[in-house]
Formats: sequence, structure tokens, C-alpha cells
Amino acid sequence: MKIPKKQYIFICLLTLLSTLFFTCRKPQPAQQERLSPDTEKQTTLKEADLEPLPDGFCLLTDSIPDAILEIRYYSDNNFVGTCIDGYEEPVALITQKAASALRKASDEFHKKGYRIKIYDAYRPQRAVDHFVQWSKDPADTAMKSVFYPHIQKTTIFSRGYVARKSKHSRGSTVDMTLVDLKTGKEVDMGGSFDYFGDISRTKSESITAEQRQNRLLLRNIMVANGFYPVQGEWWHFTLCNEPYPNTYFDFPVKMYR
Ligand SMILES: [Zn+2]
Repeated sequence: MKIPKKQYIFICLLTLLSTLFFTCRKPQPAQQERLSPDTEKQTTLKEADLEPLPDGFCLLTDSIPDAILEIRYYSDNNFVGTCIDGYEEPVALITQKAASALRKASDEFHKKGYRIKIYDAYRPQRAVDHFVQWSKDPADTAMKSVFYPHIQKTTIFSRGYVARKSKHSRGSTVDMTLVDLKTGKEVDMGGSFDYFGDISRTKSESITAEQRQNRLLLRNIMVANGFYPVQGEWWHFTLCNEPYPNTYFDFPVKMYR
């Protein structure tokens, strides 16, 4: 079928105009997530509702933003097998003085190709009380195979694995390890956090020379920055000149203003 010349020009013009229309149409902005005034009000109220942080304490990640947090007592992955009393949010609180020393240690670890991972920092007294209550129940051995396979639960208290008071409650103690900056993997320390047994001693004979070197790397930099270790737990360090050497705090682990 032959299209008349006038009709052909008209069709061409129409096609051109419609193409121009769709091409030049101003793109609609992507729908932005805009908080409704009510939500904004709630958020502001929520921030205002937060209690002020206890004097002399700070959020560990405010001081060391790239620290990895794996707050074990906020999870089931600990020797008790449940979230521990007093851990209301998976954050790490620490005294400002300890945070400042830890920051310097963290900077040194960075230069060597590592970042720090925190398992625990400030621990409220009510969490320690929870451990003590747990230790008195011989029937509750849910996590025995992972954390204390060779220890009778009844001896956990006398062996010192659980005590009525913890240095952590004074706010200047951390449980930590190292993570390789390149691979993102935890450094092999030859034993895991909170394992009740000889292998947790820093200089245990049950680990390889390389694993011992890794533990010593962690320990030496922490010691050089003002912390002291304990022999029985390669992951545990306390600030030498801690600001509250005789105070066992009990405020919960959570976000503060
Ligand atoms: Zn510890």
C-alpha cells in the first residue's frame, strides 16, 4: 500500500515530536526516604531519652571507629549459652583513659597490618553475678563441649575461671584479638576466647610457634601502651593506671547520650 506524501510527512513529524517529548522529559527524582515530621520528632525524643554516659566512660568505637565488635555476652555464643544480664545492646563501653591508650595500641597494630576485634570491655556487676549463679547449677552444661570440655563445671569457681568480682567491671579492661587488614580474617591465636583450659595461657605448650608469636605480638603492643596481661587468658588486658581501681560499676551495657 502506498502512503500519500502528505500523510507520510505527518506520520514522520508525529514520530519526531513524540521522541522529543519522551527524550526531553525531565527525569523524576528518585523517591527519597524522607522521615515524616512524626518520625523525626520520635527520633529526637529517643535521643533525648537516652541517659547520659557515666562520668569518665565512652563508647569504645567513638575512640577507635574501625574496631570490630563481637560482644559475646550479648549473644548465645558464650560459656553460659545465653545473653548475659546487663548486656542490653551490642556495644563496648570503656573508660576514656583506657580508650585513649587502646587507640594508641590500635594505631600500632594498624602499622603492622591489623585491626582490633573486641569481645568484651566494661562488664556490669550484674553480668558477673549471672556467671556466679550459672556456676552454681551443675545441671546446666549446654556449652560444655565448646568452652570447657575437659573441666568439671563444679571446679570452675575454685579454678578461678569465674569469680565474684571482675576487673572488667572497673571499666578499663578489654578482651580482644587481631584481624588481618588484608584478608579480613582473625589472626590464628591457637585457641578461642573464653576457653577454660591450659591452651588459653599465653605461653601454652599446646600451640604452634607461629600461634605463640601472634599472641606475643598482641601482648607486646598492649603492654607497650600501658596495659598488663594475665597469663591464663591471652585475650585479656587491663590498663595499668586505671582510673577506678576500686569501683565495680553496675550500669548496663547499652547506648548512652
Ligand atoms: Zn577478660
